[in-house]
Amino acid sequence: MTDNSTACSGPDAENGFGRFFLPGPTEVRPSVLAAQKRALIGHRGEPVNALMREIQPGLREVFGTARPVLVSTSSATGLMEAAVRNGVRERVLSLVNGAFSERFARIARACGFEVDVLEVPWGGVHDPDSLRARLRERRYDAVTMVHSETSTGALNPIAGLAATVREFPDTLVLVDAVTSAGGAPVRADDRGLDFVLAGSQKAMALPPGLAFGVASERMLERSASAARKGVYFDLVVFYDSLAKEQTPNTPAVTLMYSLAEQLRHISAESLESRWARHSAMARRCAEWADAARESVGAELPVLAPEGFRSPTVTCLLLPRGRTGPEVARAMKERGFVIGAGYGRLKPRSVRIGHMGDHTVEELDRVLEALEEVLRAPPGQRPEGGRR
Ligand SMILES: *Cc1c(COP(=O)(O)O)cnc(C)c1O
Repeated sequence: MTDNSTACSGPDAENGFGRFFLPGPTEVRPSVLAAQKRALIGHRGEPVNALMREIQPGLREVFGTARPVLVSTSSATGLMEAAVRNGVRERVLSLVNGAFSERFARIARACGFEVDVLEVPWGGVHDPDSLRARLRERRYDAVTMVHSETSTGALNPIAGLAATVREFPDTLVLVDAVTSAGGAPVRADDRGLDFVLAGSQKAMALPPGLAFGVASERMLERSASAARKGVYFDLVVFYDSLAKEQTPNTPAVTLMYSLAEQLRHISAESLESRWARHSAMARRCAEWADAARESVGAELPVLAPEGFRSPTVTCLLLPRGRTGPEVARAMKERGFVIGAGYGRLKPRSVRIGHMGDHTVEELDRVLEALEEVLRAPPGQRPEGGRR
Protein backbone atom coordinates (compact mmCIF):
# COMPACT_ATOMS: atom_id res chain seq x y z
CA MET A 1 0.00 0.00 0.00
CA THR A 2 1.08 3.54 -0.62
CA ASP A 3 1.09 6.15 2.11
CA ASN A 4 -2.40 7.46 1.51
CA SER A 5 -3.20 7.35 5.20
CA THR A 6 -3.59 11.04 5.84
CA ALA A 7 -4.88 13.69 3.49
CA CYS A 8 -6.85 11.52 1.11
CA SER A 9 -7.86 8.43 2.99
CA GLY A 10 -11.56 8.82 2.89
CA PRO A 11 -13.95 11.62 3.53
CA ASP A 12 -12.21 14.13 5.78
CA ALA A 13 -12.98 17.74 6.45
CA GLU A 14 -10.43 19.01 3.95
CA ASN A 15 -11.27 16.90 0.95
CA GLY A 16 -14.70 15.36 1.37
CA PHE A 17 -15.96 12.14 -0.19
CA GLY A 18 -15.04 11.38 -3.77
CA ARG A 19 -11.28 11.67 -3.99
CA PHE A 20 -10.15 8.16 -3.13
CA PHE A 21 -10.17 6.06 -6.31
CA LEU A 22 -7.88 3.16 -5.55
CA PRO A 23 -9.06 -0.15 -6.98
CA GLY A 24 -9.38 -1.30 -3.38
CA PRO A 25 -9.61 -0.42 -0.64
CA THR A 26 -12.40 1.91 -1.66
CA GLU A 27 -13.93 4.90 0.05
CA VAL A 28 -16.39 3.99 2.80
CA ARG A 29 -19.48 6.05 3.67
CA PRO A 30 -19.23 7.75 7.07
CA SER A 31 -22.40 6.03 8.30
CA VAL A 32 -20.98 2.63 7.34
CA LEU A 33 -17.74 3.38 9.17
CA ALA A 34 -19.67 4.68 12.16
CA ALA A 35 -21.80 1.52 12.37
CA GLN A 36 -18.73 -0.24 13.75
CA LYS A 37 -19.03 1.70 17.00
CA ARG A 38 -22.00 -0.31 18.29
CA ALA A 39 -21.36 -2.31 21.45
CA LEU A 40 -19.88 -5.75 20.99
CA ILE A 41 -21.93 -8.93 21.23
CA GLY A 42 -20.76 -12.49 21.79
CA HIS A 43 -20.44 -14.72 18.77
CA ARG A 44 -22.82 -17.36 20.13
CA GLY A 45 -26.40 -16.57 20.94
CA GLU A 46 -29.43 -14.76 19.60
CA PRO A 47 -27.90 -11.30 18.95
CA VAL A 48 -25.31 -12.71 16.55
CA ASN A 49 -27.91 -15.01 14.99
CA ALA A 50 -30.06 -11.96 14.31
CA LEU A 51 -27.12 -10.17 12.72
CA MET A 52 -26.32 -13.18 10.53
CA ARG A 53 -30.01 -13.38 9.54
CA GLU A 54 -30.10 -9.71 8.73
CA ILE A 55 -27.18 -9.80 6.29
CA GLN A 56 -28.15 -12.94 4.35
CA PRO A 57 -30.79 -11.55 1.94
CA GLY A 58 -28.53 -8.68 0.84
CA LEU A 59 -25.47 -10.88 0.41
CA ARG A 60 -27.46 -13.48 -1.56
CA GLU A 61 -28.67 -10.77 -3.88
CA VAL A 62 -25.14 -9.47 -4.46
CA PHE A 63 -23.94 -12.96 -5.41
CA GLY A 64 -27.09 -13.94 -7.29
CA THR A 65 -27.72 -17.03 -5.23
CA ALA A 66 -30.43 -18.68 -3.17
CA ARG A 67 -27.75 -20.43 -1.12
CA PRO A 68 -26.37 -19.13 2.17
CA VAL A 69 -23.36 -16.81 1.80
CA LEU A 70 -20.50 -17.40 4.20
CA VAL A 71 -18.73 -14.57 5.97
CA SER A 72 -15.05 -15.10 6.63
CA THR A 73 -12.89 -12.98 8.87
CA SER A 74 -9.98 -12.76 6.46
CA SER A 75 -9.13 -10.84 3.37
CA ALA A 76 -10.23 -12.22 0.00
CA THR A 77 -6.97 -14.06 -0.53
CA GLY A 78 -7.95 -16.33 2.38
CA LEU A 79 -11.00 -17.49 0.45
CA MET A 80 -8.93 -17.94 -2.73
CA GLU A 81 -6.94 -20.42 -0.68
CA ALA A 82 -10.19 -21.93 0.64
CA ALA A 83 -11.40 -22.35 -2.95
CA VAL A 84 -8.49 -24.55 -3.99
CA ARG A 85 -8.05 -26.36 -0.67
CA ASN A 86 -11.71 -27.45 -0.64
CA GLY A 87 -12.30 -27.81 -4.37
CA VAL A 88 -9.19 -29.55 -5.69
CA ARG A 89 -8.14 -33.16 -5.12
CA GLU A 90 -4.96 -33.20 -7.18
CA ARG A 91 -4.93 -31.11 -10.29
CA VAL A 92 -6.29 -27.69 -11.17
CA LEU A 93 -6.31 -25.54 -14.30
CA SER A 94 -5.75 -21.83 -13.65
CA LEU A 95 -6.90 -19.28 -16.20
CA VAL A 96 -4.36 -16.46 -16.00
CA ASN A 97 -4.74 -13.00 -17.55
CA GLY A 98 -3.25 -10.75 -14.89
CA ALA A 99 -1.72 -10.58 -11.42
CA PHE A 100 -4.68 -11.81 -9.36
CA SER A 101 -5.44 -14.79 -11.60
CA GLU A 102 -1.73 -15.58 -11.41
CA ARG A 103 -2.03 -15.41 -7.61
CA PHE A 104 -4.77 -18.07 -7.77
CA ALA A 105 -2.30 -20.40 -9.54
CA ARG A 106 0.46 -19.56 -7.07
CA ILE A 107 -1.76 -20.34 -4.09
CA ALA A 108 -2.76 -23.71 -5.57
CA ARG A 109 0.88 -24.58 -6.17
CA ALA A 110 1.81 -23.53 -2.62
CA CYS A 111 -0.94 -25.79 -1.27
CA GLY A 112 0.76 -28.72 -2.99
CA PHE A 113 -1.58 -29.17 -5.96
CA GLU A 114 -0.53 -29.83 -9.52
CA VAL A 115 -1.28 -26.64 -11.44
CA ASP A 116 -1.58 -26.19 -15.20
CA VAL A 117 -1.87 -22.63 -16.43
CA LEU A 118 -3.80 -21.40 -19.46
CA GLU A 119 -2.51 -17.87 -19.96
CA VAL A 120 -3.53 -15.11 -22.34
CA PRO A 121 -1.70 -11.75 -22.57
CA TRP A 122 -2.37 -9.52 -19.57
CA GLY A 123 -5.22 -7.20 -20.41
CA GLY A 124 -6.94 -9.87 -22.52
CA VAL A 125 -9.66 -12.31 -21.51
CA HIS A 126 -10.17 -16.04 -21.88
CA ASP A 127 -12.38 -17.64 -24.49
CA PRO A 128 -14.54 -20.73 -24.03
CA ASP A 129 -13.17 -22.58 -27.09
CA SER A 130 -9.54 -22.55 -25.96
CA LEU A 131 -10.70 -23.58 -22.50
CA ARG A 132 -12.71 -26.49 -23.93
CA ALA A 133 -9.71 -27.65 -25.98
CA ARG A 134 -7.56 -27.65 -22.85
CA LEU A 135 -10.15 -29.50 -20.77
CA ARG A 136 -10.34 -32.22 -23.43
CA GLU A 137 -6.60 -32.83 -23.18
CA ARG A 138 -6.50 -33.55 -19.47
CA ARG A 139 -8.81 -34.15 -16.55
CA TYR A 140 -8.94 -31.38 -13.92
CA ASP A 141 -10.65 -31.28 -10.55
CA ALA A 142 -11.33 -27.58 -10.91
CA VAL A 143 -10.70 -24.45 -12.97
CA THR A 144 -9.82 -21.14 -11.29
CA MET A 145 -10.68 -17.81 -12.90
CA VAL A 146 -10.95 -14.15 -11.98
CA HIS A 147 -14.09 -12.34 -13.09
CA SER A 148 -12.81 -8.75 -12.95
CA GLU A 149 -9.00 -8.84 -13.17
CA THR A 150 -8.15 -5.81 -11.06
CA SER A 151 -4.57 -5.59 -12.31
CA THR A 152 -5.68 -5.01 -15.91
CA GLY A 153 -9.32 -3.90 -15.85
CA ALA A 154 -10.41 -6.88 -17.98
CA LEU A 155 -13.73 -8.64 -17.37
CA ASN A 156 -13.68 -12.34 -18.17
CA PRO A 157 -16.83 -13.73 -19.84
CA ILE A 158 -17.50 -16.04 -16.89
CA ALA A 159 -20.93 -17.16 -18.09
CA GLY A 160 -19.43 -18.78 -21.19
CA LEU A 161 -16.34 -20.01 -19.38
CA ALA A 162 -18.41 -21.59 -16.59
CA ALA A 163 -20.79 -23.22 -19.08
CA THR A 164 -17.77 -24.72 -20.84
CA VAL A 165 -16.38 -26.15 -17.60
CA ARG A 166 -19.81 -27.59 -16.82
CA GLU A 167 -19.53 -29.76 -19.97
CA PHE A 168 -16.99 -31.72 -17.91
CA PRO A 169 -19.05 -33.13 -15.06
CA ASP A 170 -16.30 -33.70 -12.52
CA THR A 171 -14.65 -30.28 -12.85
CA LEU A 172 -15.60 -27.44 -10.50
CA VAL A 173 -15.73 -23.73 -11.36
CA LEU A 174 -13.88 -21.55 -8.81
CA VAL A 175 -14.39 -17.82 -9.31
CA ASP A 176 -12.72 -14.78 -7.77
CA ALA A 177 -15.38 -12.05 -7.97
CA VAL A 178 -13.51 -9.66 -5.69
CA THR A 179 -13.93 -6.54 -7.84
CA SER A 180 -17.17 -7.56 -9.50
CA ALA A 181 -19.45 -8.50 -6.59
CA GLY A 182 -21.45 -5.37 -5.80
CA GLY A 183 -20.45 -3.63 -9.05
CA ALA A 184 -21.44 -6.15 -11.71
CA PRO A 185 -23.81 -9.13 -11.95
CA VAL A 186 -22.22 -12.29 -10.53
CA ARG A 187 -25.25 -14.64 -10.92
CA ALA A 188 -23.64 -17.56 -9.13
CA ASP A 189 -26.68 -19.87 -9.41
CA ASP A 190 -27.63 -19.16 -13.06
CA ARG A 191 -24.06 -19.59 -14.19
CA GLY A 192 -23.46 -22.75 -12.19
CA LEU A 193 -20.45 -21.40 -10.30
CA ASP A 194 -19.24 -23.83 -7.63
CA PHE A 195 -17.42 -21.35 -5.46
CA VAL A 196 -17.46 -17.57 -5.74
CA LEU A 197 -15.57 -15.30 -3.40
CA ALA A 198 -15.24 -11.56 -2.77
CA GLY A 199 -13.66 -9.23 -0.25
CA SER A 200 -15.28 -6.40 1.66
CA GLN A 201 -13.02 -3.52 0.59
CA LYS A 202 -13.67 -3.43 -3.14
CA ALA A 203 -16.98 -2.85 -4.95
CA MET A 204 -18.89 -3.54 -1.73
CA ALA A 205 -17.30 -0.36 -0.31
CA LEU A 206 -16.72 -1.68 3.19
CA PRO A 207 -13.66 -1.50 5.38
CA PRO A 208 -11.17 -4.32 4.73
CA GLY A 209 -11.24 -7.45 6.89
CA LEU A 210 -14.15 -9.58 5.72
CA ALA A 211 -14.54 -11.93 2.79
CA PHE A 212 -17.69 -13.57 1.43
CA GLY A 213 -18.18 -16.84 -0.39
CA VAL A 214 -20.87 -19.07 -1.85
CA ALA A 215 -20.30 -22.80 -2.26
CA SER A 216 -22.48 -25.04 -4.43
CA GLU A 217 -23.72 -28.42 -3.25
CA ARG A 218 -21.08 -30.03 -5.50
CA MET A 219 -18.38 -27.93 -3.88
CA LEU A 220 -19.44 -29.03 -0.40
CA GLU A 221 -19.45 -32.68 -1.50
CA ARG A 222 -15.93 -32.24 -2.80
CA SER A 223 -14.92 -30.46 0.38
CA ALA A 224 -16.24 -33.29 2.56
CA SER A 225 -13.40 -35.53 1.38
CA ALA A 226 -10.77 -32.87 0.65
CA ALA A 227 -7.51 -34.02 2.20
CA ARG A 228 -5.71 -30.68 2.35
CA LYS A 229 -8.44 -28.28 3.40
CA GLY A 230 -6.97 -27.53 6.80
CA VAL A 231 -9.07 -26.15 9.65
CA TYR A 232 -9.76 -22.42 9.33
CA PHE A 233 -11.15 -22.55 5.80
CA ASP A 234 -13.10 -25.81 5.98
CA LEU A 235 -16.21 -25.03 3.92
CA VAL A 236 -18.25 -27.89 5.37
CA VAL A 237 -17.75 -26.40 8.82
CA PHE A 238 -18.65 -22.93 7.50
CA TYR A 239 -21.93 -24.26 6.08
CA ASP A 240 -22.74 -26.25 9.22
CA SER A 241 -22.30 -23.02 11.17
CA LEU A 242 -24.37 -21.06 8.65
CA ALA A 243 -27.24 -23.47 9.24
CA LYS A 244 -27.08 -22.34 12.88
CA GLU A 245 -26.75 -18.65 11.83
CA GLN A 246 -23.22 -18.55 13.12
CA THR A 247 -19.60 -18.60 12.02
CA PRO A 248 -17.13 -21.36 12.95
CA ASN A 249 -14.83 -19.01 14.88
CA THR A 250 -14.98 -15.51 16.32
CA PRO A 251 -16.05 -13.20 13.48
CA ALA A 252 -15.16 -9.51 13.13
CA VAL A 253 -18.53 -8.51 14.54
CA THR A 254 -17.93 -4.77 14.22
CA LEU A 255 -17.28 -5.17 10.49
CA MET A 256 -20.51 -7.13 10.25
CA TYR A 257 -22.32 -4.11 11.71
CA SER A 258 -20.84 -2.10 8.85
CA LEU A 259 -21.89 -4.77 6.39
CA ALA A 260 -25.49 -4.70 7.64
CA GLU A 261 -25.54 -0.92 7.27
CA GLN A 262 -24.03 -0.98 3.77
CA LEU A 263 -26.45 -3.68 2.61
CA ARG A 264 -29.28 -1.32 3.57
CA HIS A 265 -27.73 1.36 1.33
CA ILE A 266 -27.22 -1.13 -1.50
CA SER A 267 -30.81 -2.28 -1.28
CA ALA A 268 -32.07 1.33 -1.18
CA GLU A 269 -30.15 2.13 -4.36
CA SER A 270 -31.07 -1.31 -5.85
CA LEU A 271 -28.45 -3.63 -7.18
CA GLU A 272 -29.51 -2.97 -10.78
CA SER A 273 -28.95 0.79 -10.35
CA ARG A 274 -25.64 0.06 -8.69
CA TRP A 275 -24.50 -2.03 -11.66
CA ALA A 276 -25.69 0.69 -14.06
CA ARG A 277 -23.79 3.35 -12.10
CA HIS A 278 -20.59 1.30 -12.30
CA SER A 279 -21.02 0.69 -16.04
CA ALA A 280 -21.59 4.41 -16.57
CA MET A 281 -18.35 5.22 -14.72
CA ALA A 282 -16.39 2.71 -16.83
CA ARG A 283 -17.89 4.13 -20.03
CA ARG A 284 -17.08 7.67 -18.96
CA CYS A 285 -13.48 6.69 -18.26
CA ALA A 286 -13.10 4.99 -21.65
CA GLU A 287 -14.67 7.90 -23.55
CA TRP A 288 -12.35 10.30 -21.79
CA ALA A 289 -9.34 8.10 -22.65
CA ASP A 290 -10.47 7.86 -26.28
CA ALA A 291 -10.42 11.65 -26.52
CA ALA A 292 -6.97 11.93 -24.95
CA ARG A 293 -5.17 12.64 -28.22
CA GLU A 294 -6.90 16.03 -28.31
CA SER A 295 -7.16 16.78 -24.60
CA VAL A 296 -3.81 15.48 -23.39
CA GLY A 297 -1.83 15.41 -26.62
CA ALA A 298 -1.05 11.69 -26.49
CA GLU A 299 -2.81 8.35 -26.92
CA LEU A 300 -4.02 6.86 -23.67
CA PRO A 301 -5.21 3.37 -24.51
CA VAL A 302 -7.53 1.45 -22.21
CA LEU A 303 -5.66 -1.82 -21.72
CA ALA A 304 -8.67 -4.16 -21.85
CA PRO A 305 -10.44 -4.65 -25.19
CA GLU A 306 -13.83 -3.06 -25.77
CA GLY A 307 -16.64 -5.37 -24.77
CA PHE A 308 -14.50 -7.00 -22.06
CA ARG A 309 -13.88 -4.08 -19.75
CA SER A 310 -14.57 -4.24 -16.06
CA PRO A 311 -17.23 -1.79 -14.85
CA THR A 312 -15.24 -1.25 -11.65
CA VAL A 313 -11.65 -0.59 -12.68
CA THR A 314 -9.93 0.93 -15.72
CA CYS A 315 -6.26 0.43 -16.51
CA LEU A 316 -4.77 3.10 -18.79
CA LEU A 317 -1.46 2.66 -20.62
CA LEU A 318 0.63 5.79 -20.16
CA PRO A 319 2.43 7.73 -22.86
CA ARG A 320 6.16 7.16 -23.21
CA GLY A 321 8.12 8.99 -20.54
CA ARG A 322 5.42 8.79 -17.88
CA THR A 323 5.28 6.15 -15.15
CA GLY A 324 2.45 4.83 -13.00
CA PRO A 325 3.99 5.75 -9.63
CA GLU A 326 4.94 9.25 -10.85
CA VAL A 327 1.47 9.99 -12.23
CA ALA A 328 -0.18 8.62 -9.09
CA ARG A 329 2.06 10.92 -6.99
CA ALA A 330 1.17 13.94 -9.09
CA MET A 331 -2.51 13.10 -8.68
CA LYS A 332 -2.03 12.86 -4.95
CA GLU A 333 -0.59 16.36 -4.89
CA ARG A 334 -3.89 17.45 -6.43
CA GLY A 335 -5.77 15.65 -3.68
CA PHE A 336 -6.79 12.51 -5.57
CA VAL A 337 -5.74 8.94 -4.93
CA ILE A 338 -5.58 6.58 -7.91
CA GLY A 339 -3.59 3.38 -8.31
CA ALA A 340 -0.34 2.94 -10.17
CA GLY A 341 -0.23 -0.14 -12.36
CA TYR A 342 -0.09 -3.50 -10.61
CA GLY A 343 2.65 -6.10 -10.79
CA ARG A 344 4.52 -6.06 -14.05
CA LEU A 345 2.21 -3.33 -15.39
CA LYS A 346 3.15 -0.95 -12.57
CA PRO A 347 5.64 1.23 -14.43
CA ARG A 348 3.59 1.85 -17.55
CA SER A 349 0.01 2.20 -16.41
CA VAL A 350 -2.36 3.71 -13.90
CA ARG A 351 -5.59 2.23 -12.58
CA ILE A 352 -8.68 4.13 -11.61
CA GLY A 353 -10.91 2.22 -9.23
CA HIS A 354 -14.37 3.60 -10.04
CA MET A 355 -16.12 1.28 -7.66
CA GLY A 356 -18.14 1.28 -4.50
CA ASP A 357 -20.20 4.37 -3.86
CA HIS A 358 -18.59 6.79 -6.32
CA THR A 359 -20.51 8.62 -9.02
CA VAL A 360 -19.80 9.80 -12.57
CA GLU A 361 -19.68 13.38 -11.26
CA GLU A 362 -16.93 12.52 -8.78
CA LEU A 363 -15.09 10.57 -11.47
CA ASP A 364 -15.22 13.61 -13.75
CA ARG A 365 -13.21 15.59 -11.21
CA VAL A 366 -10.60 12.83 -11.10
CA LEU A 367 -10.36 12.81 -14.89
CA GLU A 368 -10.03 16.60 -14.97
CA ALA A 369 -7.08 16.40 -12.60
CA LEU A 370 -5.56 13.52 -14.56
CA GLU A 371 -5.86 15.55 -17.73
CA GLU A 372 -3.90 18.34 -16.08
CA VAL A 373 -1.24 15.95 -14.82
CA LEU A 374 -0.78 14.27 -18.18
CA ARG A 375 -0.80 17.55 -20.12
CA ALA A 376 1.88 19.20 -18.01
CA PRO A 377 5.22 19.21 -19.84
CA PRO A 378 7.96 17.32 -17.96
CA GLY A 379 9.71 20.47 -16.63
CA GLN A 380 6.54 21.65 -14.93
CA ARG A 381 5.69 18.35 -13.36
CA PRO A 382 5.87 18.34 -9.60
CA GLU A 383 8.00 15.22 -9.82
CA GLY A 384 10.04 16.40 -12.78
CA GLY A 385 13.20 17.13 -10.84
CA ARG A 386 13.34 13.75 -9.26
CA ARG A 387 13.35 11.59 -12.35
C1 LIG B 1 -7.91 -7.21 -4.13
C2 LIG B 1 -8.07 -8.49 -4.87
C3 LIG B 1 -7.72 -9.72 -4.30
C4 LIG B 1 -7.06 -9.84 -2.95
O1 LIG B 1 -7.85 -9.34 -1.97
P1 LIG B 1 -7.30 -9.20 -0.46
O2 LIG B 1 -8.55 -8.77 0.22
O3 LIG B 1 -6.23 -8.17 -0.49
O4 LIG B 1 -6.81 -10.51 -0.02
C5 LIG B 1 -7.95 -10.87 -5.01
N1 LIG B 1 -8.47 -10.83 -6.24
C6 LIG B 1 -8.81 -9.67 -6.84
C7 LIG B 1 -9.38 -9.70 -8.21
C8 LIG B 1 -8.62 -8.47 -6.17
O5 LIG B 1 -8.96 -7.31 -6.76
